Amino acid sequence: MSTIKRIWAREILDSRGIPTVESYCQLDDGRFATSSVPAGTSTGSHEALELRDKDTKRYRGEGTLKACENINNVLGPALIGMDPIKQSNIDQKLISIDGTENKSKYGANAILAISEVVCKVASLSQGKSLYSWINELAVEKGIAIGVKIPTPLINMINGGSHGAGNLDFQEFWVIPATNKKFSEGLQMSVEIYQTIGENLSRRGAIHSVGHEGGYAPNLFTNADAFEVFVESVRQTNYSLGRDVFLGLDVAANSFYKDGEYTIRDRSSTLSDDQLLDYYKELIGTYKLAILEDAFQEDAWGSWKKFYAALSDTCLIAGDDLLVTNPKRLQKAIDEKACNAAIIKPNQIGTVTETLQVVKIAREANFKIITSHRSGETNDTFIADFSVGIASDYAKFGAPARGERVAKYNRLSAIEIELEYFKKNK
Ligand code: PEP
Ligand code: MG
Repeated sequence: MSTIKRIWAREILDSRGIPTVESYCQLDDGRFATSSVPAGTSTGSHEALELRDKDTKRYRGEGTLKACENINNVLGPALIGMDPIKQSNIDQKLISIDGTENKSKYGANAILAISEVVCKVASLSQGKSLYSWINELAVEKGIAIGVKIPTPLINMINGGSHGAGNLDFQEFWVIPATNKKFSEGLQMSVEIYQTIGENLSRRGAIHSVGHEGGYAPNLFTNADAFEVFVESVRQTNYSLGRDVFLGLDVAANSFYKDGEYTIRDRSSTLSDDQLLDYYKELIGTYKLAILEDAFQEDAWGSWKKFYAALSDTCLIAGDDLLVTNPKRLQKAIDEKACNAAIIKPNQIGTVTETLQVVKIAREANFKIITSHRSGETNDTFIADFSVGIASDYAKFGAPARGERVAKYNRLSAIEIELEYFKKNK
């Protein structure tokens, strides 16, 4: 049995230029792995705590030196001599050393950086691909039978807190039909993405890209973005509603204030019921397949009405609502508030707890959408995780920018590997 010899960490930058944590783990057999954790911009207020230094003399208070010190001086040393294959023992130890409900003592960023790096080094020490090792952990928990490449939700246009401030909705996705191979779906999405870029340029809607690599255009309304989207899909000769579908993460927290929602498509603010009517129109017109975070994170009553009205038509996904938290997920199941769960390991803080949340969601027949964060690194753990748990969908941003394509390219490498195994059984 190999054991953990040393765990350490350093501060690195994420894709937004904001510090995050990179961890390292070495075993006594010489094997070695590294991992880094992402961070959100539109974070839900019920997420586990991401520890920031709050020293305004460095990185405007966003430094992660304390989180790294917590790994170097407390959490890492506590795991020396442990068996990396025992992921749940490792995670349990981290949870109990921290001892708080939301990992606020040592930071969920510090804790997840260790949990993931141990998972990686355990796969290496057994000579297994990371996705197949995660699948073993998932099978042990009764989550998955086999591995599966998820259908990607590929970001085309960014607004809200991910964009340049001129659209309210955060993410506009292309969703390849679920019967398409991953590589086919990726190719279609790239062709649509590039066509959208050309159309935006032609309209003079000069574009930059947002946090996730989707275009952040100058348009008047959110509906204008849909029009560009639909026009672009038509130009590629793919059929909307057959080859590809549209989806949205509106991230409603970001346009909610004091009980009302403000969107540029309407001249006055909207109540929850008026917003629901607006979504009905939108879903009818554009045949949206998935709508994420339609209402503010604690507006349970509105989520329930939305579910009652539209759960047969569209997948209703909870992100800020659920924050990958077993208690909030259970409440959503009991109260019939949504039917798809966004899964982000850094919202809860360990691999084992993330797997537990997936298990609860699966047992309630929720669709699973494994997700990156807006602040990413080139780490591809999340791609292997999505395959290992046989996630239904995965959203890793636009098919552009290194930290996003790293994940899609990893899925395509896994697709090739799985096809090879199938042929050479
Ligand atoms: C999201 O809201 O789904 C998302 C990926 O954004 P962030 O990481 O900023 O929460
Ligand atoms: Mg979201």
